[in-house]
Amino acid sequence: MNKVALVTGASSGIGEATVRRLLAAGYKVYAGARRVERMQPLRQAGAELLALDVTEDASMLAAIDTIRSQDGRLDVLVNNAGIGLGAPSVTTMSLADFRRQQAINVEGVFLGMKHGLLLMREAGHGGSIVNISSVAGLRGAPMLAGYCASKGAVRLMTKAVALECAAARDGVRVNSVHPGIIETPIWLGIVDTGGANAPPDLDAISTMAVPLGVKGVPEDIANGVLWLAGDESRYVTGTELIIDGGMTAR
Ligand code: NAP
Repeated sequence: MNKVALVTGASSGIGEATVRRLLAAGYKVYAGARRVERMQPLRQAGAELLALDVTEDASMLAAIDTIRSQDGRLDVLVNNAGIGLGAPSVTTMSLADFRRQQAINVEGVFLGMKHGLLLMREAGHGGSIVNISSVAGLRGAPMLAGYCASKGAVRLMTKAVALECAAARDGVRVNSVHPGIIETPIWLGIVDTGGANAPPDLDAISTMAVPLGVKGVPEDIANGVLWLAGDESRYVTGTELIIDGGMTAR
């Protein structure tokens, strides 16, 4: 296979697992994040590393330009980078925290699509853009007003660009993925800002909130991304792939 993929937020959790899944499927994979040193194991696994801050226009442009000059094509773009900041109440969340969350979770996805789609169109091979939203982009969650706002935005931005690409007949499909409770370091950040004293017990939460009764692992999401990336999903665009153990079925 000569297909090229870029995964943002690849230094941890779902992004890291997605890089490994795409590598195993034969993609050439660029792994982007700010903490390049944390991605060294991915380099050993065969990925190319990019220092990337998704909130910076110049940084995203430079990442895409590197791929343009080295490969001349981009087939799969996974806009995964994200943070989760909670607050006990919307009245106590700082504007700075609210804006930081939108900058990474929303503007980062916007910049990825803005520059990535251009390269996909230049190359002329079509492509697949996968934006990582959340179940919090489908329904509200207490203490997560800013996070819900950001993930809801990703959901509809995805559909808008999917329709643009379909109308342009450029062969690019655009979809969102909505994970439920997946064990990754993101939960530590939610706690830090939320003011709780201890990390959340994901097993206990999952027993109550997840019909399947257990939390998910990053590979559960990576497998869904792989399907959306490839031709098996050629007739799928503008939709939402929910991977949540049944949470949103209730
Ligand atoms: P994670 O383990 O904390 O990973 C987050 C990744 O985002 C890190 O690699 C981090 O890398 C990157 N990142 C943060 N800010 C960045 C920036 N400005 N530029 C580039 N990269 C940045 O969290 P995760 O759970 O895997 O989250 C991945 C995605 O899944 C997020 O969009 C999250 O909202 C979504 N999600 C997760 C869950 C869950 O339960 N885990 C549920 C629903 C949705 P650096 O710090 O090195 O830059």
